[in-house]
Amino acid sequence: MKQLPLDFAKRRVVVGFSGGVTSAWCAGWALRNYPRRDVVLLWHDTKEEHPDTYRFLREMADALRMPITERSDGRSVTDLFYDEGFLGNNQNAMCSRILKREQGERFVSDLMAQGFEVIKVYGFSARETERIQRAPTHAESAGYKAIFPCVEEDVSKQTCADWCNCTMGVKPSAMYEWAEHANCVGCVKGGKAYWLAVHRNHPDVFAQRSHMEDEFGHSILRGDSPVLLRDLVKRGLKRQVNPREAITIGPCECGD
Ligand code: SF4
Repeated sequence: MKQLPLDFAKRRVVVGFSGGVTSAWCAGWALRNYPRRDVVLLWHDTKEEHPDTYRFLREMADALRMPITERSDGRSVTDLFYDEGFLGNNQNAMCSRILKREQGERFVSDLMAQGFEVIKVYGFSARETERIQRAPTHAESAGYKAIFPCVEEDVSKQTCADWCNCTMGVKPSAMYEWAEHANCVGCVKGGKAYWLAVHRNHPDVFAQRSHMEDEFGHSILRGDSPVLLRDLVKRGLKRQVNPREAITIGPCECGD
C-alpha cells in the first residue's frame, strides 16, 4: 500500500497554551516543526487568571496567527471549591485536575477516537523533573506521545520570556512581575512567600481566600507547618525565600 506523505497524516500536535511564557514558546516551536494545520493551541479557562494573562493569550495567539481552542469546565476555581465542598490547598489542588488536566485528557481522547495520532506538547522546564518523569508513562498508557521542547532544546524560562517580548512583540503577563508562574491569582498550590506576595499585590484575592479558609474551617497552607493566611501575614516568613525560576520582565532588549 502507498504510504501517505507525513504532511497528510491524520495527526494533531496539541500544545497546552496556558498563558505562560514557556507554553507560548512551545506553540512557536510546534509551528516551526510541524505543519500549521496539525497544531492546536489548547486552553482551559479557570476564570481566575490574572486579567493580563487573558490579554497575553489573545495577543500571542494573534501574533502566531492561530486560533485558541478552548475546552473548559465552565466553573471558576471558587465555584468548584463550593460545589465540591472542598477547599483546594497546597497538598491537594484538585482544581488543577478538574479544570485543566481532565479537560485536556478528554480533548485528546476525543481526537484519538476520531483516528488522530496525538502528540502533546508540554511547556515544562528542566527543573520540573517529577512532572517530566510522570508524563511520558501516562501518555504511553493513554495512547499518545508527550514531548518537552524546552527541555529537549535546553531553553530557559528567561529565553522564552525574551522570545515573547522581543521576537513576537508580546509582553508576558503581569503575573510574572511578582509570581513565578502565570497561574491563577491566589493559586492554592502556592507556598508562604507566594501568599505574602498575593497579599501585597492582590489584597482583594487574598481576603477572599482567607474568608474561604474561615468558611471551610482549614488552611490552604497545610503540611508540616499549616498556617491560616491571616496568621501568616502577622507572622511573616522565618527566612528570606528566593523565588525559584524567577524571571525579569524588563524592557525589550532587542529594541522592538
Ligand atoms: S493555577 Fe492553581 S488555583 Fe488555578 S487551577 Fe491550577 S492549581 Fe488551581
